Amino acid sequence: MTAAFSHLSVELQTIAAAGLYRSRRVIDSPQGIYLQLEGRSIVNFCSNDYLGLANHPEVVSAFKAGVDQYGVGSGSAHLICGHSRAHHALEEELAAFTDRDRALLFSTGYMANVGVMTALLGRGDAVFEDRLNHASLLDGGLMSGARFKRYAHADVEQLKQQLARATGHKLIVTDGVFSMDGDFAPLKALAALAESATTGLMVDDAHGLGVLGQKGGGLLDCLGLNQDDVPILMGTLGKSFGTFGAFIAGSDDLIETLIQKARTYIYTTALPAAVAEATRASLKRVIADNWRRERLRSLAGRFRRGAEQLGLECCQSSGDSLEQNESLLSAIQPIIIGDSQRTVEISTRLLNAGFLVSAIRPPTVPKGGARLRVTLSALHEEQHIDQLLVALDQAINVSNVITP
Ligand SMILES: *Cc1c(COP(=O)(O)O)cnc(C)c1O
Repeated sequence: MTAAFSHLSVELQTIAAAGLYRSRRVIDSPQGIYLQLEGRSIVNFCSNDYLGLANHPEVVSAFKAGVDQYGVGSGSAHLICGHSRAHHALEEELAAFTDRDRALLFSTGYMANVGVMTALLGRGDAVFEDRLNHASLLDGGLMSGARFKRYAHADVEQLKQQLARATGHKLIVTDGVFSMDGDFAPLKALAALAESATTGLMVDDAHGLGVLGQKGGGLLDCLGLNQDDVPILMGTLGKSFGTFGAFIAGSDDLIETLIQKARTYIYTTALPAAVAEATRASLKRVIADNWRRERLRSLAGRFRRGAEQLGLECCQSSGDSLEQNESLLSAIQPIIIGDSQRTVEISTRLLNAGFLVSAIRPPTVPKGGARLRVTLSALHEEQHIDQLLVALDQAINVSNVITP
């Protein structure tokens, strides 16, 4: 380490002292309900593979067939020679799935969000973001150079006032299902605010697509919001779809503009064609397997009822505009703890008891909002939920005694 970076070790100690140190776990198995970790089998309650497709046999064999057909690397960016027939077919299928004119694949969701915002906005414009938006949306807004406004979580009134004061092109940007809270954005109200030529709406439905809607069409599908209501829809493929990558869906002009201008699209290697082939297979399961969604909903309801009985603090599950009912529950069911150090302790106790539940701390969530981010999968059994609830109760109460 050169002297120029000697402050890093001090900084690392500060991070650790605040209970905010992050470290990785090395997993020795495929994604699934059971993970192999340090020679133990543990029950997984922190994956975003909500529908259990990351290791589905049809998805795996489509991936292998994709490698046989296209090899491994895509060779270049989409605009050079990396855009295969597989990518193209997947884009057409995603456009049909989301009922949009077209869809455009990006290598990751982070890049999709940054790419859209930096392509569409610049100095003189303004971007409005929910305070709890995913980091990639916040970063995209900041990088765009537009005036950057955050409104309180789901606060349509505050947003309305901010919009009234702004000039230039205005873009409202929100998660559909919020990634750390599992609740829903008030999309109908946001769409009503965006109904003018100068104000657009972008929704990142990374956690809604696949999970919500009769055929997995996500929160927008549930609410009947079409391309005119929400001109920019972003989805990720690494969550419910169980594979990798992301896409933007919208009008022909939007997609063509991104192809011309989105730097995170132009200046990066296309994801492997075999990943696109695997995603085409998983999209079929997403659409057809409504039982996975029904199962998730029923498990989420069971978890919430159990947690409530134990006096644990669940997050709100619905936004303003939605009825609080079990037909709209997301797969994300966090338990708010508050203190970061204590959240980590509880998470460690859960791991010792055989359950992997991630401790989410600032800056991923607001200060004092540390939580156990419990995520459910369609492949969980009722007994897993019940066992987790018992372990949660014990881990939290023991932890109460040690750090009051
Ligand atoms: C995961 C996630 C992303 C980023 O997607 P990646 O493909 O993992 O880069 C963007 N937005 C939200 C809301 C997410 O949860």
